[in-house]
Amino acid sequence: MSDSEWIPYGKQDINQQDIDSVIEVLRSPWITQGPAIERFEAKVANHCGAKYAVAVSSATAALHIACLAAGLQPGDWLWTSPNTFVASANCGLYCGAQVDFVDINPRTYNLSIAELERKLAQAERTSRSPKVLIPVHMAGQSCEMEQIAALSRKYGFKVIEDASHGIGAQYQNKHQNKYQNQPVGDCRFSDMTVFSFHPVKIITTGEGGMVVTNNPDLYEKLIRLRTHGITRNQNLMVGDPHGTWYYQQLELGYNYRITDIQAALGASQMDRLTEFVQRRRDLAKRYDRLLKDLPIALPWQHPDTLSSWHLYIIRLQLKQISLSHSQVFDALRSAQIGVNLHYIPVHIQPYYQNLGFKWGDFPAAEQYYREAISIPLFSGMSEAQQDRVISTLTRILSK
Ligand SMILES: *Cc1c(COP(=O)(O)O)cnc(C)c1O
Repeated sequence: MSDSEWIPYGKQDINQQDIDSVIEVLRSPWITQGPAIERFEAKVANHCGAKYAVAVSSATAALHIACLAAGLQPGDWLWTSPNTFVASANCGLYCGAQVDFVDINPRTYNLSIAELERKLAQAERTSRSPKVLIPVHMAGQSCEMEQIAALSRKYGFKVIEDASHGIGAQYQNKHQNKYQNQPVGDCRFSDMTVFSFHPVKIITTGEGGMVVTNNPDLYEKLIRLRTHGITRNQNLMVGDPHGTWYYQQLELGYNYRITDIQAALGASQMDRLTEFVQRRRDLAKRYDRLLKDLPIALPWQHPDTLSSWHLYIIRLQLKQISLSHSQVFDALRSAQIGVNLHYIPVHIQPYYQNLGFKWGDFPAAEQYYREAISIPLFSGMSEAQQDRVISTLTRILSK
């Protein structure tokens, strides 16, 4: 089998227009903090229907400054899903806050609204209510944001959507019996939304991330935190400026800037966002059709969501399969199918176990972890490649 080509689970899609835009920046006076960043920010804000966008060096940096802008500090709690990349939880620890998790809904793999409600009621009694909640739109399928927003009003926490998987997705909340098609990132039900532009995600800048918001105060804070806590805005300064060269550091910020080189790539990729997501949706639908008779659970879609399909995740029905989860996984990799597993529950990482978490704390996320496999899906995938994934999986599962 080793003579067949490796099919990765995800892969960037770069065309000549992308390359030309990067070269143009390299020949221009600015290779960082120039006009491409504003262009990229405007395209993302415009796509989302959000007022403001702040591009940064990664989604991890975006999550960090979003938490700081939300006022997260030592003594506070941040809650997120255990079924996510470690960055969604680490950002709370960067701020000196404590982190806790809300177990997942076994159908959507997003944090469970019932579990969130139960935990909020309990936390209120013990004065451990969260300051910030980070719902993660797993695989590009939006969380139930309308319900989350209602709970945030009731309990007074801030909401930062981790939409690292979700640029190009929609959330359709039903209003007066009519569906409204809303892009993920419009922040109608949250304070801020974060995107990642790592090469495996929907669009890429190499490394990069963004925060979008409709709140001007949060926007001003994010802009400062991205660059050392420094401002040149005289209205925000303490006392009078010393001269036209003057700037002030108002808080402790970071160098989380993205370069113009990267932003030019991002702006160019945004032109193909709709096409990328449409291709992913078509491939996902084809998987749905061609895998439906196998002993696996296919990705269930909540009727209020239209996923961007960052990932196509299957769950093995192990009682009907003679191989174990890791045997199926390894057999796929041996056949050059680049499967992956999203995610190892964050709370069982050794670092988090040292903070007191243990196996058994979030059983739905753990059960999911024992069965889940992400199979290849990317916009440049051909039907022939997809057919090979399907036939290989079919062969392995019939053993
Ligand atoms: C990729 C990812 C991140 C981190 O993104 P970077 O841009 O690599 O920092 C955070 N959260 C989730 C859910 C992700 O998938």
